[in-house]
Amino acid sequence: MIRSCVWPSWRPEHVLFEDEDLFAVHKPPGVPSQAAQPDRPDDLVTRLKLFLMERDGLAREPYLGIHQRLDRDTSGVIVFTKRKSANASLAEQFERREIDKRYVAAVRGLPSHARETVLVDHLRRVEDHVEVVRGVRALGGRGGIQRAVTRLRVRARTDDRAIVDLVLETGRMHQARVQLAHVGAPVAGDPIYGGAPAPRLMLHAASIAFLHPRTGKRVVIADRDTSALEAWVARGDLGARIYDDDAALDAAMALAVERRWGLGRSDGKTTAFRLINEDGDALPGLAVDVYGEHLVAQIYASEIWNDHPARRDRVLDRLHALGFRGVYLKIRPKQANVLVDTRREDIAPASPVRGEAAPEIVTIHEEGTPFCARLSDGLSTGIFLDQRQNRRLLRSLAKGARVANVFSYTCAFSVVAALGGASRTVSVDAAVVALLRGRENFAAAGVDLDGGNASLHTFIAEDAFSWLSRVHAKGDAFDLVVLDPPSYSSTKKRRFVAESDYGELVALAVRVLAPGGKIIACCNHRGVSRTKFRRMVHAGVRMAGRELLQQKDLPDGQDFPPPLGKEPFMKSVLVTVR
Ligand code: SAH
Repeated sequence: MIRSCVWPSWRPEHVLFEDEDLFAVHKPPGVPSQAAQPDRPDDLVTRLKLFLMERDGLAREPYLGIHQRLDRDTSGVIVFTKRKSANASLAEQFERREIDKRYVAAVRGLPSHARETVLVDHLRRVEDHVEVVRGVRALGGRGGIQRAVTRLRVRARTDDRAIVDLVLETGRMHQARVQLAHVGAPVAGDPIYGGAPAPRLMLHAASIAFLHPRTGKRVVIADRDTSALEAWVARGDLGARIYDDDAALDAAMALAVERRWGLGRSDGKTTAFRLINEDGDALPGLAVDVYGEHLVAQIYASEIWNDHPARRDRVLDRLHALGFRGVYLKIRPKQANVLVDTRREDIAPASPVRGEAAPEIVTIHEEGTPFCARLSDGLSTGIFLDQRQNRRLLRSLAKGARVANVFSYTCAFSVVAALGGASRTVSVDAAVVALLRGRENFAAAGVDLDGGNASLHTFIAEDAFSWLSRVHAKGDAFDLVVLDPPSYSSTKKRRFVAESDYGELVALAVRVLAPGGKIIACCNHRGVSRTKFRRMVHAGVRMAGRELLQQKDLPDGQDFPPPLGKEPFMKSVLVTVR
């Protein structure tokens, strides 16, 4: 099976130490300590238990005692106990701070005079991050405030970048990250505390030393590979030069693969998702999606690729080597509003550029729901994978609702609404072919469109703006409207530019909304910020003369990480109108 070879439970070479009492591994960056994927637990402990069961042929989950954790994107050594009898001693050593924990970090901005120093701060947790609290003595140290102590020694410097050895004398959440940021030298690649651009969080747990719980002898477990950190300090962020460097490219791909383990191993529930999301995975100008046993690689036409023909081949070879059956290639035009024939052989070759061809129609699954995809039919495959969370939301809201899916494309939203118990769905799109594909998706999902259902689920090939106006004039109403327009659209009647016209579109949609109705509104334009988008949506509701009860930001998928410190490309909100 391809998926368990791309996403093995654990790699044997990542086991650092093992005896009857202890089990220590190298945690690659990207592996969470706590499950992050709803499809399947993908945390370190779940994976290690699976690995031990497979390796040792166990019928039941083995015991693993947890004594420490590492942040998802921190790499390095982590120790577990294999028997309960080993817990007391280890817990006591942690409690008494007798465990020697050493880290290595790559940072930018460390004052040039700093060589060796002790960082002492008081920290307080605020939601998902940690703050340094000043003037603690006056506060009397109350309110969840904890003292943190980190010893720092500079190992090497290049320009304003440095690699530092750290000894953590306390073990607070995000301790090293916050304390380094507080002295103006955040860990590179740190999205929360202002790290410099880097392909990952440049923090590594390099060793742990303690007394063996049974023998009492001192044990030192080291995880010495800090080459990624050294490379960053020596050369800085590679940006597009990552495609000229085999080791860096492999590391970035391996990290992307680790981050999608939960989706990759979802036992067939979700078989299509994003594997590489451009800068969010430190691979600029490249987006790669998994469709069952195949990959679709999308290259964004730019100087990253144009002047470097070897880069594309290197990427495609390595993608194929991950273990998929074949790789399709799509070259995305620079600007989405430039119309090209999307079936041109040079921008969307009909045959895979590596490996074997897929069937003409590939049935993929998303959280158990089948959809039809075509990998060799132009630039688009028939499904937008970045809408997974929104489809889940719509399904959960759909029971008994009248749902309008405006700009429906292949009707994926309508299908999940039908499965969620919508009393009626209307799919509106200007493209007749898209609606035919939509019927195909209904059929794949087992929703009958004939007989009694024929009037429940309807398909309307029409300009969305005209349709909304017409429905309003008729006095028809919907409980839920999905609005997912392209960034640019022009028909004989109208030109729509999301950046300036989104508010008017919302106003049209609000006018067909029943009291208390909701809109899921999406905007995939990179030039529109979340703030601007929210403002346009709000203005649209007002234009329609209705009261906005709530506008809620919707989360994006784990497989679409935004670039460091930036917003995701796809912004969506759930709007409730009185
Ligand atoms: N919501 C869809 C994706 C929409 S893609 C999904 O989740 O799968 C944008 C769609 O808008 C395309 O199918 C395109 O045919 C359609 N479209 C563009 N301009 C339009 C217009 N003026 N009226 C109706 N449909 C339009």
